[in-house]
Amino acid sequence: MTSRVPHSLDYLTEHKHERLLAFHDPDTGLRGAIALHSTKRGPALGGTRLRTYATTEEGILDVVRLSEAMTYKAAVARLPLGGGKAVLFADGKEHDPALRTARFLAYGRIIEELGGSFITAEDANTSVSDMGVVKRATRHVVGTSVEEGGSGDPSPVTAVGVLYGIKALADELLDTSSLSGIPIAIQGLGKVGMALAELLVAEGATVTATDVASETVERAKSTLGIAVVEPDAIFDVPCAIFAPCAYGGAINDGTLPRLTCKIIAGSANNQLQDERHGELLHERGIIYAVDYVINAGGLINVAQELAPGGYDEARARELTAGIYDTMKQMLAISRREGISTQRAAHQMALSALEIGEPATI
Ligand code: NAD
Repeated sequence: MTSRVPHSLDYLTEHKHERLLAFHDPDTGLRGAIALHSTKRGPALGGTRLRTYATTEEGILDVVRLSEAMTYKAAVARLPLGGGKAVLFADGKEHDPALRTARFLAYGRIIEELGGSFITAEDANTSVSDMGVVKRATRHVVGTSVEEGGSGDPSPVTAVGVLYGIKALADELLDTSSLSGIPIAIQGLGKVGMALAELLVAEGATVTATDVASETVERAKSTLGIAVVEPDAIFDVPCAIFAPCAYGGAINDGTLPRLTCKIIAGSANNQLQDERHGELLHERGIIYAVDYVINAGGLINVAQELAPGGYDEARARELTAGIYDTMKQMLAISRREGISTQRAAHQMALSALEIGEPATI
């Protein structure tokens, strides 16, 4: 385990990625990258994230890392899919509706050129309607609106999956099958974070949350009656469970020593800034739910669109409930072998990849 930041191209080789495509559409100014980590279990499915990055390299490294996690997420969820991801570089111009449409159409054409090896869906800062535009240029997109034959926003199902994961860990580690009165801190009240906050409030948990968007925080405070804090203060909130639901890197050298929780269980991808933070959490006795294990609900949901009979929400929710057992299996491996949950999850993913067991959606 190392703390050095590798160059994205070195990372590709070290982590056995199959392909990285960087693109620029001169007509619209669209810039982005698609990373295919593995297509061993099936086409690489992964969301498209729209974000501002300090440097292009930072964005490329992000997509490369995220695509690998998608391989493991699909494998642990026993889906016949590989792992991929895409980032589009935000430059502020995407707020212009006509330009946004033109960019997502151009992006759809790029996906089409990949011939089905990459299937995308919405992700942070992209929407179901953006994916509807992509669909005008390619079939290889899921998570479009229900009217367009898609499954719609996966975020509510992702939140349900996170809730199952939290319940499994609370059962094992807090010795309670009820979340009533359990203090839980949520970082990020976006599509998943807000849905999770609602579910947790309904379970009777004592929720404290934050978001960088003040209007979102106000909405959560007034509609859910939860406590709110400034963004940086969330790491100091006394809690049993910390749920990172914003973007990556929430757990890092600066934040880790401040955490008082017993469990880290949220929806964000790449919650650990570096793999070594997973080991540090293990040494401190904090159980990490592992991002790609606990947030698989969204993937399970959109993957249902590829099922022979088409999308079935009840089936998607039923499969998402499986996160409860997967979480317990991961914890059992971690305990039995005395390894971090991060390593246990990786072991589960690798054995699913090796066995390549027949899987169906
Ligand atoms: P979103 O963009 O709707 O929400 C993210 C929220 O985090 C926003 O409200 C944003 O203002 C807030 N935020 C950003 N930086 C913050 C900070 N430093 N402190 C506090 N708040 C901050 O995205 P989402 O769809 O809710 O996804 C959240 C995370 O879960 C992402 O990492 C995403 O990749 C992951 N995820 C989402 C899904 C899904 O179904 N939407 C599925 C799997 C994983």
